[in-house]
Amino acid sequence: MKRTKIVDIFNPELLGKEVCVKGWVRTRRGNKYVQFVALNDGSTIKNIQIVFDMNNFTDEQLKPVTTGSSICVEGILVESMGKGQTCEIQAKTLEVYGTADPEAYPLQKKGHTLEFLREKAHLRPRTNTFGAILRVRSALAYAIHKFFQEKGFFYLNTPLITASDCEGAGAMFQVTTLPLNDLPKNEDGTVDYSQDFFGKPTALTVSGQLEGELGATALGAIYTFGPTFRAENSNTPRHLSEFWMIEPEMAFYDITDNMDLAEEFVKYCIRYALDHCRDDIEFLAEHFDKGLIERLEFVLHNDFVRLTYTEGVKILEESGKKFEFPVSWGIDLQSEHERYLVEEHFKKPVILTDYPKDIKAFYMKQNEDGKTVRAMDVLFPTIGEIIGGSEREADYDKLLKRIEELDIPMKDMWWYLDTRRFGTVPHSGFGLGFERLVLFVTGMTNIRDVIPFPRTPNNAEF
Ligand code: ATP
Ligand code: MN
Repeated sequence: MKRTKIVDIFNPELLGKEVCVKGWVRTRRGNKYVQFVALNDGSTIKNIQIVFDMNNFTDEQLKPVTTGSSICVEGILVESMGKGQTCEIQAKTLEVYGTADPEAYPLQKKGHTLEFLREKAHLRPRTNTFGAILRVRSALAYAIHKFFQEKGFFYLNTPLITASDCEGAGAMFQVTTLPLNDLPKNEDGTVDYSQDFFGKPTALTVSGQLEGELGATALGAIYTFGPTFRAENSNTPRHLSEFWMIEPEMAFYDITDNMDLAEEFVKYCIRYALDHCRDDIEFLAEHFDKGLIERLEFVLHNDFVRLTYTEGVKILEESGKKFEFPVSWGIDLQSEHERYLVEEHFKKPVILTDYPKDIKAFYMKQNEDGKTVRAMDVLFPTIGEIIGGSEREADYDKLLKRIEELDIPMKDMWWYLDTRRFGTVPHSGFGLGFERLVLFVTGMTNIRDVIPFPRTPNNAEF
């Protein structure tokens, strides 16, 4: 008999019909006359209740049906009299696919802490919480492609292995096939990379942006969506060593167009999740973050406040608030500063623009004042920075001068500079950390809980 997914079973048209479901047992309870099994197959947060009339089954048959075991049941879908569910299945046949020893299976019924579940990341997708998070994550990934595809952006795949470390976005993971305990050396004692796989030092990418610009200045508008790697030793609830980034890059967009796109984009994703993952988000709200749905609606229904970094710093300085890191013009804002602006001062998402050039990347468009660049960061409640972007410097001479000032080796940059040599255009782009978006939408507070298998300092298990 054809299997019905549990997500599709709560359908009045199926009432009275014979159905087949397969999944993992969440709980079993009952007495010698009747046994109730809550079954979940991952397709939805909801379980289907299966009723075993013990006139038709033996204790021996039900014995292996314990939490975590996998079964197949055929039976009749009927209206349920129990509270909290609309229908249930009266079992006719039972097949046990796999047992799960109750002594050994770690996910017994009662709510485990998120910390405990991180140690069990191989099994945590089977919990309500992680099922919900992973379904929301998947829906958001789909929404991202949908948003850009419908706007006529092209999906560009940028390389994961790169030979340039000019982004400066973070420390890189080196990629090499050289034998680490017997490195080939040059006369002067340095490592002889000509013998390495690519004939030069390479590393995992920290951002696809530079190649993204090559795409944008050919296809008009592109987006990337792929993994990025940063070997920064920052053990924070908002940083991963391996995370997914979305980087749209658009020819003929100035910074205002860029801000408009960023705002429309994050709102679209949040709307999509609310419309398509209601049950999961309600579950997460109920169990972790009572204010979640209100906060999501709030972002949707407010225009993001736009102001310059200089204005932002002034507000922080005049706030009278004691920050852990003192504020003055020129500093890189910390999460506490960003959150103050968003949560306490404006009570709305904020886009800060025109940052000091010294704390931003070399490729950002230089303003007339000679001190600031046309950068934009989107700041969110609870998260702080969710998006970082800018209008790019389109002028060859200005860009070259900045590259020289920062001592970035030309051998790494010649291909990038060619975009400004041949048919340069005003253009802009930004990067959204996918996990920061998932954090925001799920109301989770630790980034390790919104990616199936987190990579952080000292942790590459699973
Ligand atoms: P932060 O100041 O939070 O470290 P950043 O300035 O290094 O961020 P960018 O280089 O602008 O960030 O990267 C673009 C986006 O990628 C950020 O806005 C953020 O959403 C995300 N991001 C950056 N670093 C990480 C990380 N280690 N883990 C997860 N997401 C990240
Ligand atoms: Mn960083």
